[in-house]
Amino acid sequence: MGICAYRQRFRRRYGQLPSSQGLTKPRAFASLGGMARSGPPLHVLDARIQARCDAIREAHPAWPCGPGCDACCRALPHLPRISEPEWARLRAAIAAMPDEARARVEARVREAPPTGPLTCPLLDRDAGACLVYGARPLACRTYGFYTERDAGLHCAKVTRFAEERAAEGAPVVWGNGEALAADADAHGEPRSLADWWLV
Ligand code: SF4
Repeated sequence: MGICAYRQRFRRRYGQLPSSQGLTKPRAFASLGGMARSGPPLHVLDARIQARCDAIREAHPAWPCGPGCDACCRALPHLPRISEPEWARLRAAIAAMPDEARARVEARVREAPPTGPLTCPLLDRDAGACLVYGARPLACRTYGFYTERDAGLHCAKVTRFAEERAAEGAPVVWGNGEALAADADAHGEPRSLADWWLV
């Protein structure tokens, strides 16, 4: 597949929506309309992503993504879009929540507008932390660390930070969003969190 096709596919998954904060959040994993194919299992992709994120943090200890920042979770262009295996592990994490918290999240999913910017129903809004961190979707794991050549797939804070590092002669080695999208496609057609949960 040529690089242009990769770009088109990647953009269908990770299209951007500027928020009032100057942030963008990936339109994660839009439909590709194909049947599931074989590909790396989810835990392999998780490990690959984690290794890249760790390497970036090690090279740039002041990287802006981390505990205490939930800005991108508050600027979604729509509810998270996830594949079936992503939903399977997310569903288990949701089932393990206390009843009251799960009911609160479900109400938010039901009330979510079709388009954002919106705050993810799975965000603990007081703590600013993901309620299902260990089971969060692939797009949430990559956000702020992966990019697609000249497309820019990260928030304004990350962009500024990366530009400063580049000016200092320490450029960021980003994760390869195109390659990841190609592997993630193998897990089948992504659907909205609401479609998995409520239908
Ligand atoms: S699933 Fe978790 S990490 Fe992903 S957008 Fe929602 S709150 Fe943020």
